[in-house]
Amino acid sequence: MEEYILEEQRNTPVCGEYDVFVLGGGIAGISAALAAARQNKKVLLVEKSFILGGLATSGLVTIYLPLCDGYGHQVSFGIAEELLKLSIKDWHNEKRGYPVWLGPDKKSEITETDQRYAVDFNPSLFALAAEELLLKEGVQILYGTQAVACQRQGKRIQAVIVENKSGRTAYKADTFVDASGDCDIAYQSGTATVNFSQGNVLAAWYYFLDNGENKLKQLGASDIPEEEKKLGKTAKEPLVNRRFTGLDGTELSEITILSHNAMYLNMKEKIAADAQSIPLSVPTIPQVRMSRRIDGADTITIDNAEKYKENSIGLVSNWKKRGPVYEIPFGILYNPETVNLICAGRCVSNDDYMWDIMRVIPCCAVTGEAAGTAAALTDDFPSIDIQKLQGILSSNGIKLHKDSY
Ligand SMILES: Cc1cc2nc3c(=O)[nH]c(=O)nc-3n(C[C@H](O)[C@H](O)[C@H](O)COP(=O)(O)OP(=O)(O)OC[C@H]3O[C@@H](n4cnc5c(N)ncnc54)[C@H](O)[C@@H]3O)c2cc1C
Repeated sequence: MEEYILEEQRNTPVCGEYDVFVLGGGIAGISAALAAARQNKKVLLVEKSFILGGLATSGLVTIYLPLCDGYGHQVSFGIAEELLKLSIKDWHNEKRGYPVWLGPDKKSEITETDQRYAVDFNPSLFALAAEELLLKEGVQILYGTQAVACQRQGKRIQAVIVENKSGRTAYKADTFVDASGDCDIAYQSGTATVNFSQGNVLAAWYYFLDNGENKLKQLGASDIPEEEKKLGKTAKEPLVNRRFTGLDGTELSEITILSHNAMYLNMKEKIAADAQSIPLSVPTIPQVRMSRRIDGADTITIDNAEKYKENSIGLVSNWKKRGPVYEIPFGILYNPETVNLICAGRCVSNDDYMWDIMRVIPCCAVTGEAAGTAAALTDDFPSIDIQKLQGILSSNGIKLHKDSY
């Protein structure tokens, strides 16, 4: 039988009131906060760790996947491109992405064998550059702060309750952007969410020094969605024979310890083979790909490739294969039961195949920018003036429809 304790009732102090409250300082949260601040809104970005970037930096996922369709057409623009350039502003890998983005011939990728518009970045430099940019744009950042509960009235969230070194406090806002990766505000506010049923395989990516070069060791292969399994594709041998939800406190510690074990073993093997092979850094957050997402007004599926969407907020490509381009409908960002909550990044509404596409860095920037811009425009997402939103996104360089490039 489960046991409970009854907590005392308490008065939680309200520490601030904002136009836009953004939860999560990953790529989606950075993009949303930036977009909202650029619409002259008072923005608070709340992050439980003490550095920006989320999985991309603390999780050592340092590959900014392509913004293109694989045939020489860039499809994702705006903050997705701005952050890509920011990620390599102070350091770049000559071998990947550099000639395309910083070299003289940006349109060099035209054939099947050309490298796509992806880059490697340095996680520390990217995180610090992002922090500098957000502060310059007027975003207030609150680190070391975890959202733990929500207060709602009817269809609106009124405040998010957080805990940090100061204790338990609340923040009010007109609109809330859930860029937590795990859809925490939606879940805490009782908005409908969907868990990733398949569960995650274990990942253990870390950096080591090899012949004077910084190298990323990627232990644990990416999983294959059910749709691809039906087509006969098989996943590589997993690191451990277990699946993880990414949503349970005890399990997250187990993931972390199992991933540490795998890395430590691999590091010792490397050092035994070559004493100069020195470990440099390990991830400081669990490397969970998909956990919980909003059950959106709309859901993007594999069939959405090449389909015209009147309410598109931008384009993304498929990092797994050249060709498919998806127009992203605004409805995947919100659920009509909570009118002032919008989601971005790896917790938008998709089926499992598209989740694997939409969770990557460029897509998180695309949905983040749209969510932040929308949050600055209205506090009632189901009745947003979509043409006005599209007008702002277009004026910021975003292509909304495929025929426009
Ligand atoms: C092993 C692995 C390999 C990958 N490989 C690639 C790749 O090669 N290229 C690529 O483009 N993508 C890759 N991805 C995917 C990509 O890195 C992430 O999906 C993407 O960065 C997610 O961005 P996000 O902002 O949506 O979420 P996250 O990066 O998860 O950011 C969410 C942020 O919110 C914070 N947060 C969460 N909950 C709370 C809370 N309650 N209160 C306060 N703060 C909170 C977290 O600390 C975090 O900083 C990979 C992912 C994994 C796990």
